[in-house]
Amino acid sequence: MLKILAFSERKELLEELLSFLNERTEEIDIICKKGFDPSGFKIQNAYCFNQDLFDPWQAVDLVSNLFSNGYNYLFVGASTIGREIAALVSQKLGYPMETDVFDFQLVNGRPIVKRYYFGGKTVMTKETEAKIFTLLPGSTEVKKIGQKVYSIKEVELNGLPKTKLLGIEEKAKGSVDITKAQIIVSVGRGIGKREGIELARKLAEKLGGEIAGSRPICSDLHWLEEDRQVGLSGKKVRPKIYIALGISGQIQHIVGMRDSKIVIAINKDKNAPIFNEADYGIVGDIYAVVPLILEKLEG
Ligand SMILES: Cc1cc2nc3c(=O)[nH]c(=O)nc-3n(C[C@H](O)[C@H](O)[C@H](O)COP(=O)(O)OP(=O)(O)OC[C@H]3O[C@@H](n4cnc5c(N)ncnc54)[C@H](O)[C@@H]3O)c2cc1C
Repeated sequence: MLKILAFSERKELLEELLSFLNERTEEIDIICKKGFDPSGFKIQNAYCFNQDLFDPWQAVDLVSNLFSNGYNYLFVGASTIGREIAALVSQKLGYPMETDVFDFQLVNGRPIVKRYYFGGKTVMTKETEAKIFTLLPGSTEVKKIGQKVYSIKEVELNGLPKTKLLGIEEKAKGSVDITKAQIIVSVGRGIGKREGIELARKLAEKLGGEIAGSRPICSDLHWLEEDRQVGLSGKKVRPKIYIALGISGQIQHIVGMRDSKIVIAINKDKNAPIFNEADYGIVGDIYAVVPLILEKLEG
């Protein structure tokens, strides 16, 4: 039976990892921060640490030593620090690794993985000798599939950090996690002016949804908080309804929303690539179309 060790310091990534792995094997042990609640997932042993993890070197020995105890594969949630830990463990143990996979199958005992390539334009399927994988965040829905008896063991992050923590400043955060939203109104550069965001916000509120945006809106112009950015370098979302207002549909945006159930696009350029992803498209100006929709919703 396939035996897998899974690690993430972040609750939501570990839940995704477990949902992904529970569909593939029964024998899973995890390394997690103390307090993680594994109920609902099939795991056997939880190795829990209670320190703040801010430097990958703190975890390298622990993860390498545990992984050397007869596991077939190590899966790590691809947070920034998770990717670094996976790379350092790979280098320490001399095992190849694959980053940011979103599918993993064993065919004739050999791993076949899928990952995005060329900034998400293509999907690469490859057979690999890797033993260590990072899982792309947002690749899978969290599914709790029943509980298994598991044991919790306390462990220490006993590696010496190579950096000194001088302070932590919270990033400006949106009020919600857009990955959980069922309806998203997403704003692109086509909105044209900061005040236009309010029109989109009004539509989101009317529909009981959340507002999100493309990279120019969130990371360049900062008209919305960065954690509302959808896409390759933002969040991967899969709402029931995704409404794209003035978003051109570049691939780096599409990889973040292509699993949405229904996509509605409003764009004044009939050739905008977003229409290739859309179930419903309106060729028109946001400032003409959205007020009409609001009028209907209010009437
Ligand atoms: C490594 C890398 C990572 C990236 N990560 C991300 C990411 O995570 N998320 C992301 O979004 N992008 C990302 N990008 C950027 C991406 O390539 C695009 O530049 C970006 O998605 C474009 O944003 P946009 O659609 O809002 O703007 P634009 O491409 O400028 O499109 C604006 C659209 O609005 C339409 N429009 C203009 N005015 C109106 C109007 N009044 N009414 C209706 N329509 C109108 C136009 O026809 C146009 O189609 C990344 C790029 C790179 C290289």
